Amino acid sequence: MARVDVLVIGAGIVGLATAFHVKQQCPSCSVALVDKHPGPGHGDTGRSAASFRAFFYSRTNMALAATSIAFYRSIQEKEGFDLGMRFIGYLFLLSRDQYRAVEPVLQELRRRGLGYRVYSPEELEEGLGLRTRLRGDEEAELMELPDVEVGVLAENAGIMRPERLVEYYSSRITEMGVKTMYGTRVERLIVEPEEPLGLSYEPLPWQRARVAGALTSQGEIRADVTVVAAGAESPALLDPIGVDVHAKPKKRQVFVVRASSPGLQRLLHAEGFNKHGIAPFILLPKGVYVRPAPEDNAFWVGTSDHLGRPFRWEPDPQPEEPFYTYGVYPVLRSYLPAFEGARPAAAWAGFYDESIDGQPVVFSEPGLVVAAGTSGSGIMKADAVGRIAAALALGRKKATLYGGEEINASILGTRSRQIEDEKLVI
Ligand SMILES: Cc1cc2nc3c(=O)[nH]c(=O)nc-3n(C[C@H](O)[C@H](O)[C@H](O)COP(=O)(O)OP(=O)(O)OC[C@H]3O[C@@H](n4cnc5c(N)ncnc54)[C@H](O)[C@@H]3O)c2cc1C
Repeated sequence: MARVDVLVIGAGIVGLATAFHVKQQCPSCSVALVDKHPGPGHGDTGRSAASFRAFFYSRTNMALAATSIAFYRSIQEKEGFDLGMRFIGYLFLLSRDQYRAVEPVLQELRRRGLGYRVYSPEELEEGLGLRTRLRGDEEAELMELPDVEVGVLAENAGIMRPERLVEYYSSRITEMGVKTMYGTRVERLIVEPEEPLGLSYEPLPWQRARVAGALTSQGEIRADVTVVAAGAESPALLDPIGVDVHAKPKKRQVFVVRASSPGLQRLLHAEGFNKHGIAPFILLPKGVYVRPAPEDNAFWVGTSDHLGRPFRWEPDPQPEEPFYTYGVYPVLRSYLPAFEGARPAAAWAGFYDESIDGQPVVFSEPGLVVAAGTSGSGIMKADAVGRIAAALALGRKKATLYGGEEINASILGTRSRQIEDEKLVI
């Protein structure tokens, strides 16, 4: 039987960041990190589209993303550890009605100093080969695709390589002495009374119960604090002990389209949006996104479906070809004719760990910290989430985000949530 001060379950980006910040703030603490996979980052972290943006209305959302992005940037620029971050921008393509609805929000963001640029339909046609006027196109009308009136380019945004961020955190925690145990599955969490009396059925309702560690495929690991950072699988560990994470897994898919035609080459290397001479991350009306992947000479495309897509976790999620053919492709080629006839060369699927408001869920119970519910933005927020989870694991009321901003460590709790609505919803 092993014993540590802090046991972290899950070596995805959230568990890695948590282990890193626990050890950094408490060098004398013994910390173990376990994952059922043979190495770190093999869960949804390795299946992400890896885009980021510090362009949100909710101050919490902004604080989580902006400070994490600033931390990653410092790793890349000051420590010289390449995370593949490219600030190519995040382009929202908006219909007239959408623009009217978000204009006050954008003005408020401008007042707060957030940089963005506005593009006219003509500039978008010229720069991206975008079709902005779809009226009269029968298929587009059937899909109720609106004309594009405005492009809004968020500047502090881009793409990165999450596997490099995984490498960064995992090499740092190894140097700092975190014990990593890969290929180790947690079967269940151990719940015990604080003062065991040796009675049957313990913990009895009148006893103070706590999580005392986990039973794993390598035996029992006992801990003062156990952090569950098991991503979309967190409910499988927490439901049996009566703790609700209020987040559920929903399948998400990414399709890789090679930039093999001259039209797609022109789009990939679109000028006028950033200093890299690469197209920005593009969000089309109806939620279809186009993420340039210049290192693969390709685009990653996808969308998030809602009604009809079940909340269900599967061990080996598979991409669905008809989802591309009938769901993504018709929207894609309507706005960007360069995609006409384009078929995916590869694809993968993973899960969004969807919380009720799209924000991470981080809270504590006796002997337990939960850090999950990252809802499709866990890469861009992981460092801040890790700092908050670490603060809770170390019994602190406040967490210090990168850059020095202090945040209430219970802000992302299920009962103590204090989050403004995200008004930049497009
Ligand atoms: C298709 C797709 C696109 C995305 N795009 C973006 C994006 O553009 N930008 C962005 O910021 N985010 C994006 N995300 C979301 C992002 O990938 C996640 O929010 C993030 O990776 C979650 O990290 P995590 O550490 O919580 O979970 P994971 O990376 O899934 O890590 C959890 C770990 O826990 C381990 N584990 C679970 N149960 C057990 C157990 N019983 N015993 C031992 N180990 C266990 C798993 O093996 C896994 O390694 C996307 C996600 C998907 C699926």
